[in-house]
Amino acid sequence: MRHLLSTDGLDADTAKAVLDTADELKRTLLGREVRKLPTLRGRTVVTLFYENSTRTRVSFEIAGKWMSADVINVSASSSSVGKGESLRDTALTLAAAGADCVVVRHPASGAAHRLADWLRETGTSVVNAGDGTHEHPTQALLDAATLRERLGDLAGRRVTIVGDVLHSRVARSNVHLLATLGAEVTLVAPPTLLPVGVEAWPVTVSHDLDSALPAADAVMMLRVQAERMHGGFFPTAREYSIAYGLNETRARLLPEHAVVLHPGPMLRGMEIASAVADAPSAAITEQVRNGVHVRMAVLYHLLAGDGGDRD
Ligand code: ASP
Repeated sequence: MRHLLSTDGLDADTAKAVLDTADELKRTLLGREVRKLPTLRGRTVVTLFYENSTRTRVSFEIAGKWMSADVINVSASSSSVGKGESLRDTALTLAAAGADCVVVRHPASGAAHRLADWLRETGTSVVNAGDGTHEHPTQALLDAATLRERLGDLAGRRVTIVGDVLHSRVARSNVHLLATLGAEVTLVAPPTLLPVGVEAWPVTVSHDLDSALPAADAVMMLRVQAERMHGGFFPTAREYSIAYGLNETRARLLPEHAVVLHPGPMLRGMEIASAVADAPSAAITEQVRNGVHVRMAVLYHLLAGDGGDRD
């Protein structure tokens, strides 16, 4: 694997290999006082974030550090981007300075692919840490890791994804990866928050959350992405919450074994009630924990070894 840009096109063997590596890393580090492996010593990882982030940026940094890579964080606001430097020039600068891997988050869909293209000649790997409304592949991988841990093999499992699918790179990455792993995905959203062309996705679409929940092995709640909304997509937050929020009463419709996921940041009271987010069926902090191991696994698959098979 040279880059990780999307889950669309990520084959099942590669995805499972990353998930298995993440499991192995998690087991290896469990209970260790010193969580440090020498695997990526001498490798340099740069995180380049043009959008806000807590979980993704921090977990990539921890992942790199636990594998002994040198990790450097660049945020657009404090770099030469603030002086008007283009994404291309910034990327080439980071590669020339010695980055083995650039982990990029950008508001434009397709930015990570462009970066990979510009860095083709350099040998620097690119990881997409979220590009606009397009993809967030490591989120989907950590969601799959969490679901596998709770439910076992995902083949035939039913996952319901709820909310602002239109603006969600998490939903897109999950739809592709879950389909590749054999799960059945149902999207539940108001018609205004579904993308054009959703009929072509490997999913079932519904607008009725109550009827979708009893059959779900897992439900993934999405944040309402107000920062990407230019216009009215639903009447009021209260009405959205009544129709699409996972409140306590509604959560009782789920089977007992069902897992509740949320990629964070959560808008408690809007898309998910606090009592549901903090209940044992919710795996939201496990998602964050697994995020570190999954990102370690991704960096391992991209950077470990002599680079001879990295294409
Ligand atoms: N943290 C996720 C993302 O960056 C989900 C969200 O922001 O709602 O896409």
